[in-house]
Amino acid sequence: RSKAKGRGRVTQFDPGLLARRARHHLERRLREAVREARLTLAYQPLAGVLSGRIVGAEALARWDDEELGPVSPVEFITVAEETGLIVDLGRWVLRTACFEAASWPSGGGGDRLKVSVNVSALQIAQPSFFREVLQALTDSGLPASCLCLELTETAVIGDMRSTAQLLREIRDLGVSIALDDFGTGFSSLTMLRDLPADLVKIDKSFVDKVTDETSADSVLTRLVVSTAHSLGMRVVAEGVETAEQAGLLGSMGCDVLQGWLIAKPQPDLAGWLHSRAG
Ligand code: C2E
Ligand code: CA
Ligand code: CA
Ligand code: CA
Repeated sequence: RSKAKGRGRVTQFDPGLLARRARHHLERRLREAVREARLTLAYQPLAGVLSGRIVGAEALARWDDEELGPVSPVEFITVAEETGLIVDLGRWVLRTACFEAASWPSGGGGDRLKVSVNVSALQIAQPSFFREVLQALTDSGLPASCLCLELTETAVIGDMRSTAQLLREIRDLGVSIALDDFGTGFSSLTMLRDLPADLVKIDKSFVDKVTDETSADSVLTRLVVSTAHSLGMRVVAEGVETAEQAGLLGSMGCDVLQGWLIAKPQPDLAGWLHSRAG
């Protein structure tokens, strides 16, 4: 009798059930937010190593829900990827980033700034993806040379050959391709060899260790820079927080830096550029 007590009762504490309910709720709110275009974009500036000039910015999705408050992108992007919502979310990000970037002022040297957009595996697997990229450029009036698509290793892990072909067609438009979070997957060298890319983004986990000159990460960073350069690609270091890291990455030959040392992601990039210039 005592064994049965409490077993089937609704009041019994079940952390698994609570977590599933919370997640389900988050998913429902996210679906609504995407449908009603209630997400926003923050833009994190990228700076040339030698000139210190801002050369572009990465679009990062932000969600401040009325009920849930601000939700971390790591959390809602994961949910979006697991539920397929990332296709609609990603389409909105691509179009919004193109429209917003079309009205950015030019950078320090008078050159136009590039906008980088993260693209996920499911998104790139849509047969309509190429057409959507072209449409976003046409509708916004953003020159193709001002758009960069960032792909992670997992995004292309599927069929390398057809992905490479798609990327070639996108590059033929004048759009550039960056290999994101480079070095964190299992097939980095294969990707470097087989995918047509313009840029390699060294992951923050390597940048964190770069000041420890004897660390394997520091050795690997040097290797990635020289390999990328010999293949004609430029190198971006992400998550740069200190001047010491920036100095070392510069001496290793990195071309572009991104991180809190330069700026955190900005809700108003034009305003930030303006206050920086003035
Ligand atoms: P990511 O593409 O690697 O973006 C860089 C992340 O590092 C951003 O986090 C950025 O805020 C953070 N970060 C930049 N500099 C520093 C630094 O100096 N120190 C530290 N500690 N962090 C830094 P965020 O905005 O939370 O985004 C997390 C991830 O969510 C992104 O990682 C990206 O994978 C994903 N994500 C964000 N927006 C989108 C999107 O529109 N589409 C897709 N598919 N994924 C997105
Ligand atoms: Ca990225
Ligand atoms: Ca990254
Ligand atoms: Ca990263």
